[in-house]
Amino acid sequence: MSTSQKRLFDFSESDSSKDFFSELEEGDLCVAEVVFNKPLVSVYHYAVPDELRESLQSGKRVAVPFGKGNRREIGFCVAVHYAMQPKQRLKSISEVVDRQPLVSEKMLTLTRWIADEYLCGWGQVLESAIPRAVKQGAGQKQRTYFRIDEAKRNNVQIGKLSAKQKQVWKVLSSSKEPMTLEELAERAGCSSGPIHSLRNKGAIQSFRKVDDSDREDDRSFVIELPDYALNEDQEKVLKKIVGIVESQKHKTILLRGVTGSGKTEVYIRAIQEVANYGKQAIVLVPEISLTPQTIRRFRSRLDSVAVLHSHLSDSERHAEWRKIASGLVQVVVGARSAVFAPTKNLGMIIIDEEHETSFKQDTTPRYHAKQVARKRAEIENIPLILGSATPTLESWQRVQNRDDLLLTLPNRVNNLPLPPVVLVDVRNDQYISKGAAIGRILATAIRNSLEHDGQIILFLNMRGFTPALWCSACGKSMKCPSCDITLTWHKDRGVALCHVCNFHTDAVRACLECGHKGIRHLGIGTQKLEQEVRARFPEYQCLRMDSDAMKKRGSHHRALEGFRKVNISILLGTQMIAKGLDFPNVTLVGVINSDWLLNQPDFRASERTFQLIAQVAGRTGRGTKGGRVFVQTMNPTDPAIRFAAEHDFLSFAKHELIHRRENRSPPFSRVIRIVFRGENEAATRTAAETNSTRLKESIGSMFPDLKILGPAPAPISRVKKFYRFHLQLYFPPDVPLGELGNRIRESLQPGKDADFVIDVDPVDLR
Ligand SMILES: [Zn+2]
Ligand SMILES: [Zn+2]
Repeated sequence: MSTSQKRLFDFSESDSSKDFFSELEEGDLCVAEVVFNKPLVSVYHYAVPDELRESLQSGKRVAVPFGKGNRREIGFCVAVHYAMQPKQRLKSISEVVDRQPLVSEKMLTLTRWIADEYLCGWGQVLESAIPRAVKQGAGQKQRTYFRIDEAKRNNVQIGKLSAKQKQVWKVLSSSKEPMTLEELAERAGCSSGPIHSLRNKGAIQSFRKVDDSDREDDRSFVIELPDYALNEDQEKVLKKIVGIVESQKHKTILLRGVTGSGKTEVYIRAIQEVANYGKQAIVLVPEISLTPQTIRRFRSRLDSVAVLHSHLSDSERHAEWRKIASGLVQVVVGARSAVFAPTKNLGMIIIDEEHETSFKQDTTPRYHAKQVARKRAEIENIPLILGSATPTLESWQRVQNRDDLLLTLPNRVNNLPLPPVVLVDVRNDQYISKGAAIGRILATAIRNSLEHDGQIILFLNMRGFTPALWCSACGKSMKCPSCDITLTWHKDRGVALCHVCNFHTDAVRACLECGHKGIRHLGIGTQKLEQEVRARFPEYQCLRMDSDAMKKRGSHHRALEGFRKVNISILLGTQMIAKGLDFPNVTLVGVINSDWLLNQPDFRASERTFQLIAQVAGRTGRGTKGGRVFVQTMNPTDPAIRFAAEHDFLSFAKHELIHRRENRSPPFSRVIRIVFRGENEAATRTAAETNSTRLKESIGSMFPDLKILGPAPAPISRVKKFYRFHLQLYFPPDVPLGELGNRIRESLQPGKDADFVIDVDPVDLR
């Protein structure tokens, strides 16, 4: 069967084109299938004019006339095949935009799957998977380089050159790489004059090439480190992984290793193994963990590392992308979207801290990088490793069902014990009841640690000074005028701030509702905690780390370096300090308020509380001095908090899974959440109701095990002036999404007053 025939058959299976082409046979008309960056399910068909046939391939973008007015639109060509001319004449492609395909066939398969799985347009997925910089060809600046003309090397009469020219010649002769004008002039200690005159004599050559040099390359600062010796547990785990790599089959491995058990070392060894086969690995880490420290760790052990994170400039991103596509890197380290890295010969995917919610994208396409990685690993027939000290219950249930393989690192490296965790019941604490953040017991522990030269981490997940402003006359809290969110007082800026839309006002002396001047401040944010710490322990240096204090690029890194050098005794902050930090001198971790997550209206509230306490606790006890953890709580008997204090993931998972099964929550069901949004409350409610009715009718009795909740106002009922109503569908995990997805897409219609978003497997239910 020829390729074009194969394509024709692939094509005839695609849902949208079935009717249109079913009576066609293979013919002479070259047809391109095109998708657009729109929430459309359809694949559109265009005729390919003869003169474009040569240059058109799937994976390239094309310009086409679209809609009634034939306006020019750019779309992605996802397939090309031959067919008979259909009855209705096809429009023709006007231009092929890209010289090279932007994505491979495998990536087309993957993105198509994402569109079906997350109920969005294929073109939307492609648009999101390929960085803007790559589409625009950003940073493809040409630059002039100089080198010795090897053919003429022996003809150059060195004696006749001026002193400066001789110097240029010497520098360039001893350099293995071509040099730019600036580099050469600097190294030779001259102006551009002698360089140009040497070139004019033909003694040296100049040429232009794409410039990658404005990329931040800290490779030069990297000290290559030898392999650490693995302990017995690590050896065992690595051996299993290597076996799976050698089998060249897809397998998902859940690597549960307690904090400080040396997971990263296992990753690096596994990647080295994959690199020995000439293949590449992708390592996804939460954006917040993508610190220079992490990157240095990989760079010091592997020859070539590409990094993809949100702080890259367009040209940097494009340069990394090209480097990956050329097959020159051994490993790509990046945040969520690095799952789309264009590796030539992928050998393994690793997701570290797999429980992190930041792997789910919160804009269309709302994919979860873990599911995408799983699918990609399946397509490429390679292993996927999910690592965590506190795996999600979804991942845990998969190993219970033996769908995935469990490997465990139960102990910390160097036989260090996990730190003892003390639960501090602060319900009757004399300091706390007077409005302090730090209770009596934690204060004593801090004093004690400081006196023994230990460092301290205090965790509080609320930025700002006070998280609620409340009128003592009318009893109303001050809310954002555009959102259903209380304003947080930011003392440093002197404003009340909305943490959702950034609205701020300094008019907070009087109540916005009744004008009364008795505004009370409730709760504690990191700024207030900082003030309290400075007042109580004035002789010690303290540093606050949250997104307000760490706005400047690199400030996060500088702060951590400062803490490492031990001149800062107390580091306090939000989840920025909860992840991955490894400071051997930290002997005390204090969790200021462990209860805030428990009260969230989310079936994962317990799980997140457990994860957070376990992660924060993991920041101490990493050195010879040992470490302790104090967790302040108003719910000392809550199972999530109790099990976390005992470092007992197994019992927590068992306990929580019983509840989930009873309530038919994930992992015993899947959830689709549909949020309707509109500026008019009544119209949005009506849109939510009519759409929901239509959807319920369409689904009817076809899916008897489906549970539908709503429509109801979302927990945050208004965001940025838009009212929000949501509908939640719970369905058994073994029901394929296909037909259900189709019905959802067919029944929902955006109106002029309200639109909607569909979130499959949501991690945020607010
Ligand atoms: Zn009032
Ligand atoms: Zn707001």
